[in-house]
Amino acid sequence: MTAGTEPSTRWPAISKDPAGFRVRPNLVDYDAACAAFSWDEARHELSGLPGGRGVNIAYEAVDRHAAGSLAGHEALRFVRADGSVRSLSFAGLAEQTSRFAGVLRGLGIGRGERVFSLTGRSPSLYIAVLGTLKNASVFCPLFSAFGPEPVRQRLHLGSGRALVTTRSLYRKKIAGIRDSLPELRHVLLTDADGDPEPGTLDLAALMRAAPADSEVAATQAEDMALLHFTSGTTGTPKGAIHVHDAVTAHHATGTTALDLHPEDIYWCTADPGWVTGTSYGVIAPLTHGVTTIVDEEEMDPDRWYRILAEQHVTVWYTAPTALRMLMKAGADRARGHDLSALRFVASVGEPLNPEVVAWGQEALGRPVHDNWWQTETGGIMISNYAATEIRPGSMGRPLPGVEAGIVARDAADKPIVRDGKAVLVTEPDAVGELALRPGWPSMFRGYLHEEERYRRCFAGGWYLTGDLARRDADGYYWFVGRGDDVIKSSGHLIGPFEVESCLMEHDAVAEAGVIGVPDPVAGEVVKAFVELRSGWQPSEDLQLEIIGFARKRLGPAVAPRLLEFTAALPRTRSGKILRRLLKARELGLPEGDTSTVESPVESPAGASEPAPGPGAPQ
Ligand code: ATP
Ligand code: MG
Repeated sequence: MTAGTEPSTRWPAISKDPAGFRVRPNLVDYDAACAAFSWDEARHELSGLPGGRGVNIAYEAVDRHAAGSLAGHEALRFVRADGSVRSLSFAGLAEQTSRFAGVLRGLGIGRGERVFSLTGRSPSLYIAVLGTLKNASVFCPLFSAFGPEPVRQRLHLGSGRALVTTRSLYRKKIAGIRDSLPELRHVLLTDADGDPEPGTLDLAALMRAAPADSEVAATQAEDMALLHFTSGTTGTPKGAIHVHDAVTAHHATGTTALDLHPEDIYWCTADPGWVTGTSYGVIAPLTHGVTTIVDEEEMDPDRWYRILAEQHVTVWYTAPTALRMLMKAGADRARGHDLSALRFVASVGEPLNPEVVAWGQEALGRPVHDNWWQTETGGIMISNYAATEIRPGSMGRPLPGVEAGIVARDAADKPIVRDGKAVLVTEPDAVGELALRPGWPSMFRGYLHEEERYRRCFAGGWYLTGDLARRDADGYYWFVGRGDDVIKSSGHLIGPFEVESCLMEHDAVAEAGVIGVPDPVAGEVVKAFVELRSGWQPSEDLQLEIIGFARKRLGPAVAPRLLEFTAALPRTRSGKILRRLLKARELGLPEGDTSTVESPVESPAGASEPAPGPGAPQ
């Protein structure tokens, strides 16, 4: 446990009543599910390519359903700006993705070559993801809000051969950098309307001319399928490589962690530009044959409540920042919307403060189930489950098939390895590095062009996640902080999350970011940057009051010594608080990689516009 504090009694465990389940959860007995699970058996839940030709993510997600009883079932339902919807059935999606694969083939884009996207959440994006996989090419989605430089860097690093984008994004972001990307052979415009820009192609016209039913290309389990860039929270984003066998994990975790059932209407708010939006916004729900909602617009509280109610969403996967924005908007915004269809709510991407878990129960009628994973893990690794007790503030327990551990660290914060084996922390609540035993199918197979960095992620038989955590006596994992973000003050190890969670419980505080600043006596002292809720004004009295509030709950060793109000915390475009930037600015150090920063250059003190909300974690 973080030194100097006791577990919160303010947020009691939330137990579940089996009699209250409308739909029997997939995972009821956690221990039994773990004992019975094997990845080989999980592979048998999928079909494999006909004729034993291998495994292909798109075949599992689309074609096997299109060839069976789900052909006419609604696969994707897009909600437009005006609230109207357009749908694609599994058969329709199979046809469109075959045509897209045919377009690539016609352009000479082959096996293993990279196809990028830079577009909003339109049908073309989803067709491009799956069509690329059907062609045995590799898909790399980019978040459409990236500026030209981050786009250029990623296209260059990933040797992008083709790019799917829109006319306006092409004009704004690509036309000016095109000459510096000699490997980029084709730019396909989704909205060319018969009149493509010079140097681009009309995707719709090419699709019309392509065959509607070509065979899915044979891919093997270990063939590269997806390239995902990390969020850039701790530094320059890394390109994580994923293979077709990842679909085994996407499907299995969709069963256990997201509790997907065939009749579900499922909504994942993440943009496919981030790994969550691909693993769980495209692949997992489709492999389960459920109907997936895609909101084509950005986050807006009233719109989101309307979508939940009008589309009868049953399973909702979103992110802490988004939930906190809903909470900030007030519980009355939820009232008047019939959310009775909602069965299960989950969250990922950042620590989920306990207050939000409880708020979910009040405002949505369901508690929020936190889960933890990374771009590198490709799928959910630690989770709270539909049928099991929630301990608010905890990420939950490892998924069946996932072995997690807490690795001890030495005085220099390096993992301790003895005789080739990592030393695991065995006593409950001791803090160490969260580690996973390699072997799950969606584990990344490399960082693109960074082999050494990839190798450094493994030690003593474990994959080291870079996050610090503790495990309680019952096996629940508690996030302490990113390895780079934890604070050492007077011999105490302090996790920013714990301090931020506490600050956010004060009525005036909307969001908080906590860092350590050097101190000659304590080593580091805790400094908090605080965004106020609307209606509150910064003042010295309020500053002292919030510090006092935190001291009472956390004790003087852990509570912030310093507190500064800020109009907007620096965030990644996917909504994560950038503590490294708060720290660099505080200490007058270089800001490092800012390619994924929401509002890159403003200093916290000078920022006047709150960062727009995330549509998109993680
Ligand atoms: P980069 O690796 O480029 O610095 P990043 O780590 O933010 O960026 P992602 O892979 O998108 O990139 O995010 C994974 C990280 O997000 C985790 O390692 C963890 O620090 C944080 N995270 C994800 N889910 C949770 C959660 N439920 N609780 C706490 N932290 C979480
Ligand atoms: Mg990371």
